[in-house]
Amino acid sequence: PFELKGKTIYVAGHRGMVGSALVRRLAHEDVELLTMSRNELDLRDQAAVNQWFADNRPQVVFLAAAKVGGIVANNTLRAEFLYDNLAIAANVIHAAHVHGAEKLMFLGSSCIYPKLAPQPLREDFMLIGPLEPTNEPYAIAKIAGIKMVEAYRSQYGADFINVMPANLYGCGDNYHPEYSHVAAALIRRFHEAKQSGAKEVVVWGTGTPRREFLYVDDLADACIHLMKTYSDHELVNIGTGEDITIAEFARVVAATVGYAGEISFDTPRPDGTPRKLLDVSRLVKLGWRATTRLEDGIRLAYQAFLSEHAVNA
Ligand code: GDP
Repeated sequence: PFELKGKTIYVAGHRGMVGSALVRRLAHEDVELLTMSRNELDLRDQAAVNQWFADNRPQVVFLAAAKVGGIVANNTLRAEFLYDNLAIAANVIHAAHVHGAEKLMFLGSSCIYPKLAPQPLREDFMLIGPLEPTNEPYAIAKIAGIKMVEAYRSQYGADFINVMPANLYGCGDNYHPEYSHVAAALIRRFHEAKQSGAKEVVVWGTGTPRREFLYVDDLADACIHLMKTYSDHELVNIGTGEDITIAEFARVVAATVGYAGEISFDTPRPDGTPRKLLDVSRLVKLGWRATTRLEDGIRLAYQAFLSEHAVNA
């Protein structure tokens, strides 16, 4: 096993939903944490990233920094999703290698799998078919990052690993009305409908796509577990192994928020990929399982939304 104790750990992207969950989880480990805000260090700036690694020489790196967003953000900001994510991955992975990091974890995404791949998605399904067009730029950048990790491992013997999380939700999410992911979007929309007494809430698409939702604190726990115990070139999916339709998911959010009105579907909006259920058997074999039930996780996420936004229930 890889010892974290006493190590200098850099969490790239610590202000984001994933990075902040990693920071919360690492508070239970005896480690020295390094973080840099976007204003202090722009991870797209190769020279700045190199200099920072030369000065700080972190021993362990969690690469959780990325430009992220929901289906509309991915599909609209296509150049930014490609450029920012390619640059972040290239700069951080290379600098970690050059400046002697002992271990690095790169966080990918379940959207790197082909749109119509067999379900559940096994780690070796990457690149067996075309990607879902709405998030192809993001997926291509993530695949490039995954391939860098694999190449630095095989060419240089670097102890770098790749993990692929399912759709995430929880504390520290982004609630942008247009650009957020579905969980944050629906928590906000059902909450606002309840507040205003609206009789109808609109959910995008047909409601038939299936998604697997993982609570972000579960993800952080899985990442620490794998950082300590896993060292190989194969990707590791991180999820619950269960999915539900967007329509069912909307009903869970409505019930949690306490919205009792109608739910309708805006079918001209994109559905995205029909299904992306992760095969988590490798993760289970490695000794980890998700523990937060969706209903509980959504309740915690709604509480976080209420306190982060200082609004009345
Ligand atoms: P995806 O998994 O990459 O498609 O990411 P999203 O979280 O953005 O969307 C998941 C699914 O939820 C898609 O089928 C969307 O069409 C659907 N969806 C329904 N309502 C919303 C919404 O208000 N915002 C977002 N982002 N997606 C929604």
